[in-house]
Amino acid sequence: MIIDLHCHSKYSYDCYLEPLDLIKRARALGLDGICIAEHYSYTLSRAFAAIDQGDGFLILRGVEISTNMGHPRSLYHETTIYRRQRLPHA
Ligand SMILES: [Zn+2]
Repeated sequence: MIIDLHCHSKYSYDCYLEPLDLIKRARALGLDGICIAEHYSYTLSRAFAAIDQGDGFLILRGVEISTNMGHPRSLYHETTIYRRQRLPHA
Protein backbone atom coordinates (compact mmCIF):
# COMPACT_ATOMS: atom_id res chain seq x y z
CA MET A 1 0.00 0.00 0.00
CA ILE A 2 1.45 3.36 -1.04
CA ILE A 3 0.26 6.44 0.85
CA ASP A 4 1.50 10.02 0.62
CA LEU A 5 1.62 11.18 4.24
CA HIS A 6 2.18 14.84 3.40
CA CYS A 7 -0.59 16.43 1.31
CA HIS A 8 -2.20 19.86 1.33
CA SER A 9 -5.24 21.32 -0.41
CA LYS A 10 -6.54 24.82 -1.06
CA TYR A 11 -7.20 25.09 2.66
CA SER A 12 -3.48 25.51 3.30
CA TYR A 13 -1.75 28.68 2.15
CA ASP A 14 0.74 26.87 -0.06
CA CYS A 15 -1.57 24.82 -2.29
CA TYR A 16 -4.38 25.56 -4.72
CA LEU A 17 -5.93 22.11 -5.28
CA GLU A 18 -9.55 21.38 -4.52
CA PRO A 19 -9.97 18.25 -2.38
CA LEU A 20 -11.37 16.14 -5.23
CA ASP A 21 -8.63 17.29 -7.61
CA LEU A 22 -5.99 16.31 -5.06
CA ILE A 23 -7.51 12.84 -4.78
CA LYS A 24 -7.71 12.49 -8.57
CA ARG A 25 -4.02 13.38 -8.89
CA ALA A 26 -3.07 10.95 -6.13
CA ARG A 27 -4.99 8.16 -7.82
CA ALA A 28 -3.45 9.00 -11.20
CA LEU A 29 -0.01 8.61 -9.58
CA GLY A 30 -0.99 5.14 -8.41
CA LEU A 31 -1.32 5.95 -4.72
CA ASP A 32 -3.60 3.90 -2.49
CA GLY A 33 -4.27 6.79 -0.12
CA ILE A 34 -3.26 10.17 1.21
CA CYS A 35 -2.91 11.94 4.50
CA ILE A 36 -4.24 15.46 4.27
CA ALA A 37 -2.28 17.54 6.80
CA GLU A 38 -3.27 21.19 6.50
CA HIS A 39 -1.18 23.75 8.33
CA TYR A 40 -1.93 24.24 12.03
CA SER A 41 -5.53 23.02 11.90
CA TYR A 42 -7.19 19.63 11.76
CA THR A 43 -10.51 21.34 11.12
CA LEU A 44 -9.30 22.68 7.75
CA SER A 45 -9.33 19.13 6.39
CA ARG A 46 -12.97 18.49 7.27
CA ALA A 47 -14.00 18.59 3.59
CA PHE A 48 -12.09 15.34 3.16
CA ALA A 49 -14.07 13.61 5.90
CA ALA A 50 -17.17 13.61 3.69
CA ILE A 51 -15.40 12.14 0.67
CA ASP A 52 -15.86 8.41 0.29
CA GLN A 53 -14.28 6.99 -2.83
CA GLY A 54 -16.13 3.74 -2.25
CA ASP A 55 -13.23 1.62 -3.40
CA GLY A 56 -10.90 1.56 -0.43
CA PHE A 57 -8.86 4.65 -1.33
CA LEU A 58 -7.58 5.69 2.11
CA ILE A 59 -7.96 9.28 3.30
CA LEU A 60 -6.29 10.04 6.60
CA ARG A 61 -6.49 13.45 8.26
CA GLY A 62 -3.87 15.21 10.30
CA VAL A 63 -2.22 18.54 10.94
CA GLU A 64 1.21 19.99 10.14
CA ILE A 65 3.04 22.54 12.24
CA SER A 66 6.23 24.45 11.52
CA THR A 67 8.91 24.41 14.18
CA ASN A 68 12.54 25.44 14.32
CA MET A 69 13.32 21.72 14.06
CA GLY A 70 11.22 20.94 11.00
CA HIS A 71 7.62 20.38 9.98
CA PRO A 72 6.19 17.46 11.95
CA ARG A 73 2.75 16.09 11.17
CA SER A 74 0.33 14.48 13.53
CA LEU A 75 -2.54 12.21 12.51
CA TYR A 76 -6.00 12.82 13.87
CA HIS A 77 -4.86 15.75 15.99
CA GLU A 78 -8.17 17.46 16.67
CA THR A 79 -6.83 20.48 18.52
CA THR A 80 -5.88 23.61 16.60
CA ILE A 81 -2.24 24.57 17.14
CA TYR A 82 -1.53 28.26 16.92
CA ARG A 83 1.66 29.73 15.53
CA ARG A 84 4.23 30.42 18.23
CA GLN A 85 2.28 28.29 20.69
CA ARG A 86 4.56 26.46 23.08
CA LEU A 87 3.94 22.75 23.00
CA PRO A 88 4.27 20.60 26.10
CA HIS A 89 7.41 18.49 26.33
CA ALA A 90 6.85 14.79 25.72
ZN1 LIG B 1 3.51 20.62 4.30
